[in-house]
Amino acid sequence: MTGILYLCATPIGNLQDMTFRVLETLRTADLIAAEDTRNSIKLLNHFDIHTPMTSYHEYNKVEKAGQLVRLMAEGKHVALVTDAGTPAISDPGEVLVRMCQENNIPVTSLPGPCACITALTLSGLSARRFCFEGFLPVDKRERRMVLEELQGESRTMVLYEAPHHLRGTLEELSRNLGDRRITLCRELTKKFETVMPTTLSGALEHFKTQEPRGEYVLVLEGKSFQEQRREEILSWEAMSIEDHMAYYERQGMDSKTAMKQVARDRGVGKRDIYSYLNK
Ligand code: SAM
Repeated sequence: MTGILYLCATPIGNLQDMTFRVLETLRTADLIAAEDTRNSIKLLNHFDIHTPMTSYHEYNKVEKAGQLVRLMAEGKHVALVTDAGTPAISDPGEVLVRMCQENNIPVTSLPGPCACITALTLSGLSARRFCFEGFLPVDKRERRMVLEELQGESRTMVLYEAPHHLRGTLEELSRNLGDRRITLCRELTKKFETVMPTTLSGALEHFKTQEPRGEYVLVLEGKSFQEQRREEILSWEAMSIEDHMAYYERQGMDSKTAMKQVARDRGVGKRDIYSYLNK
């Protein structure tokens, strides 16, 4: 019998958010793999849990995942906890999950706190469609590509950021995405939890005088369909009607259908396009 990997979500600030199931699993597992053992020991002491612990972090994740997989293959049950929140969300957990899958080790996830979802629910922005970006990439080229991709994103976006990078990231977002609504969610579930619905320009103004402190999640409004439409219209307007027609004809439309589409894009009647092209 192989062991199981249990992904154990732990509180993101308030210890009372610990679930019964996670407590039980941490008590009965053979081993707890923790992102930061010094951090997790406080949590385990608080709940009087004495299960042996080992470290599993960004810098030993590949080698350590191999060792943990071998232990599970021998039948040991491993509980994974990361610094806070749900393992595998912006932390090294995903590597271990993948390695377990590759080695036919069962994995199960015990749901619980997650900064992304907590922030989204408090943001006041649309939660119907959202995307999770986590931390923006550190690599400059990759970061530029992601920011470019986000320019057209119509879903609400959720980002993580460290306080010392917050101002810089807000400036970059504002430069690339224009002014938007944003909700800054700080120190969630903790004593000084703050939810600040504002705009990117409002946030930048705020941090001119206030030093960002604590942990932040940024929830950013997606591009509205009206804004997308406006941009589309502007781009069609910059094109001649002939080029606009050719654009659709290149896609295989016959001229009648292309004319209809061009008229729709430009918000005019089909006949107007027809008379212009046949004058
Ligand atoms: N796995 C975690 C989760 O489920 O949310 C996220 C881990 S990630 C390494 C840490 C980032 O999550 C922080 O930099 C911050 O952006 C966000 N975060 C974690 N706890 C938070 C809290 N209490 N309030 C606001 N943001 C938090």
